[in-house]
Amino acid sequence: MHTLIIGGGIAGIATAWELNKAGVQVTISEALPYLGGRLCSHSAKGIPTKFDNGPHLFLSSYTSTRRLLEELDSGGDLHFPFPGRIPFVLYDGSRAKFTEWALPAPLNLAGGLLAFSLLNLRARGRVVRAAGRLLTGRDSEVLSMQTWLEENSQAEERRIFWEPLIQAALNVDSSSLPLSYLQVVFKEGFCRGFSGGRLGFARRTLDSVFNRGAKQALNRAGVEVLLKTPVSSVKVDARMALDVSFHDGKRGKYDAVVAALPPWALDSLLSNTSAGEDIKAELDLKSWRTQPISSLYLWADERPLLDEFICTPEGAVDWVFDFGRIWGRRNAPLCFLLGNGKVDRSNSGIRAIMDSSHKVFPQLRNVSWKSVRLVSEKRATPLRPEALWGKRLRQTTRTPHLFLAGDWLDPELPPTVEAAVRSGKRAANLILERHE
Ligand SMILES: Cc1cc2nc3c(=O)[nH]c(=O)nc-3n(C[C@H](O)[C@H](O)[C@H](O)COP(=O)(O)OP(=O)(O)OC[C@H]3O[C@@H](n4cnc5c(N)ncnc54)[C@H](O)[C@@H]3O)c2cc1C
Repeated sequence: MHTLIIGGGIAGIATAWELNKAGVQVTISEALPYLGGRLCSHSAKGIPTKFDNGPHLFLSSYTSTRRLLEELDSGGDLHFPFPGRIPFVLYDGSRAKFTEWALPAPLNLAGGLLAFSLLNLRARGRVVRAAGRLLTGRDSEVLSMQTWLEENSQAEERRIFWEPLIQAALNVDSSSLPLSYLQVVFKEGFCRGFSGGRLGFARRTLDSVFNRGAKQALNRAGVEVLLKTPVSSVKVDARMALDVSFHDGKRGKYDAVVAALPPWALDSLLSNTSAGEDIKAELDLKSWRTQPISSLYLWADERPLLDEFICTPEGAVDWVFDFGRIWGRRNAPLCFLLGNGKVDRSNSGIRAIMDSSHKVFPQLRNVSWKSVRLVSEKRATPLRPEALWGKRLRQTTRTPHLFLAGDWLDPELPPTVEAAVRSGKRAANLILERHE
């Protein structure tokens, strides 16, 4: 049996790996010159080091991702400091670390919340009560995260606690998300086992881990990886094999195909695919929207080092990542995560961001920045249309032997790296079950 995986993002890599372990012949076809999809890094003339598409935070509860990376010999590339802690800095200079207690969940979180000194005591009490409601599932009938936040919190804790947490875990603000995502982040992300919820990061560039590392492991295992090879159509032939056309005019026949693509890429592939219109309608592909994520990277010959990641919930910058600490290299960049809004790319726009950051980090005021780079990923996170909130999306399709994978297809998790990996494993299992 020969299976083609369309898309070499982490969902496609996970699918390929699972199938290969089961002895299936696998080819990955990726449109870009590298594997990793949205988990990628860039380089540019005059910029001293590579820089990521946008900083990524991983949760210690991303068990499928961690297992996959271990199997790809990159397990050590993810680091989760113990105990979990998040430094916060406000505009008025007040600062505190949200430190998880080394206790079984949910006491790890409750202890950290009660000691979180940036909120007054009443606000801390409200956050603990609201977190309890999330964990017990008492508000499951409320669909909208925004409605729930308005009912269960006040502006202060929304600004300092809930919105930064949602931004870090879900990549978007709360206004366009179902509540179930926040419940899952709390249950799966922060409250599993002993000291359940640590935030972590990749110790090397995303390119080293998800492109170079993954490609080497896949090659060693015998998976064929075709880069710069976009697929243009998938048709079913008379013998029920899948007839795939590539953009360069080549064609190939496969026993099964997995489209490991985000909704926007699947939409254009399906225009030339058997039963494509039916699949588009079922997944309501036209209604999916996306939000951008922008980050400002800065390099200097000499600068003070900060913590690995810091939450700055006021002003233009949401989070600060110090890759000098994360990668352990002095010439690595400092990164301001600017969130989902539109960013003024002009010199005065960038200067306004810098001025805003100096209020929080006065120690950066005299740094002479050698290079500055603004990175905007236009389609960072797929946003599920409201009509599909709470619905389970199938990874099988009306085209026989055509399956789907991608971060947007998880029945519970929001679109994240973990959701993408799990979708890949499910797609592989569906193929294996059907061919048993
Ligand atoms: C700036 C940013 C920050 C993020 N932060 C976090 C975070 O902190 N934590 C977290 O868990 N997640 C984060 N995410 C989300 C995470 O990156 C994604 O959920 C995950 O990488 C999606 O993987 P995927 O394989 O489903 O899709 P993709 O990575 O989009 O992979 C799809 C692949 O298909 C290829 N393709 C498209 N069309 C074709 C075609 N016709 N033929 C062949 N190939 C094709 C594309 O080139 C791409 O490589 C972030 C994303 C961004 C952009």
